[in-house]
Amino acid sequence: MSDILLRFDFAQSPVRGEICQLQTLCHAVTDRHDYPLPVRTLLGQAMSAVVLMAAMLKLEGSLILQIEGDGPVNLVMAECNHRGEVRAMASHGDDPVPDDGWLAMVGQGRLLLTIDPEDGQRYQGIVPLEGASLAEALGHYFAQSEQLPTEFHLFADGERAGGLMLQVLPGHDQGDDADLWPRVRNLAATLSASEMLSLDAESVLYRLFHEETVQLLAEQALAFVCSCSRARSENALRAIAEDELKQLLDEQSGLIEVRCQFCLQRYPFDRIDIEQLLRHDGSPGSDSLQ
Ligand SMILES: [Zn+2]
Repeated sequence: MSDILLRFDFAQSPVRGEICQLQTLCHAVTDRHDYPLPVRTLLGQAMSAVVLMAAMLKLEGSLILQIEGDGPVNLVMAECNHRGEVRAMASHGDDPVPDDGWLAMVGQGRLLLTIDPEDGQRYQGIVPLEGASLAEALGHYFAQSEQLPTEFHLFADGERAGGLMLQVLPGHDQGDDADLWPRVRNLAATLSASEMLSLDAESVLYRLFHEETVQLLAEQALAFVCSCSRARSENALRAIAEDELKQLLDEQSGLIEVRCQFCLQRYPFDRIDIEQLLRHDGSPGSDSLQ
């Protein structure tokens, strides 16, 4: 099983789909962090979801999924860009993380989806955290905000992850085969975690839809790539008030270390760096995570 996204459609119909499978990516995230198993599982689902959603974008840029809640896991972030570069992180306290559904982990809060084009304005959609699973919450999101019938099936076991998305494109007549959407939805609902996590993507599609005419459209490789940099760390520091920065320097023996929460790369700033930063003060950065 390699890290891959496949796009497909059902011939002569407005129903399209995507399937992704992640293994190296799951390890890239979990090898860097000591996440409990339920968190690794949710991260696998979140990465699958951003991979599927980023592939729908018709622009160069990133899609960012953020779960902010008041539960033991207070933040989950996953990000994928048009090149198939993915990163993800989660933040949790010292309390044990319950393995009793995603809402027990994340609590009450909100799910944010941000489209961040390389050129142009950011777009952000927000929905409350609800539903039996992340997949269900995303289905609600699309029903409300995009008005497109869309459904997600997300699976992960801490080692591997995979996702299937089906969507009806707007502005098309389903023609003679108006039953296609309910039919493929019912077929997709039979997909099990063990099928998704053990079979390759084409075999999963064959097992589900062998009585339909599935056309494979495009394939994209996926990889863990972190977009953090010293420049972005400088932006994060610029968002902190000058006297707070100086206090931090004093507290930390004259060296502030900005650590990327995704890849754990450290960016050190000593007194001279901070003074330079304050002298060439630009606009405050928006990305406070690194
Ligand atoms: Zn990083």
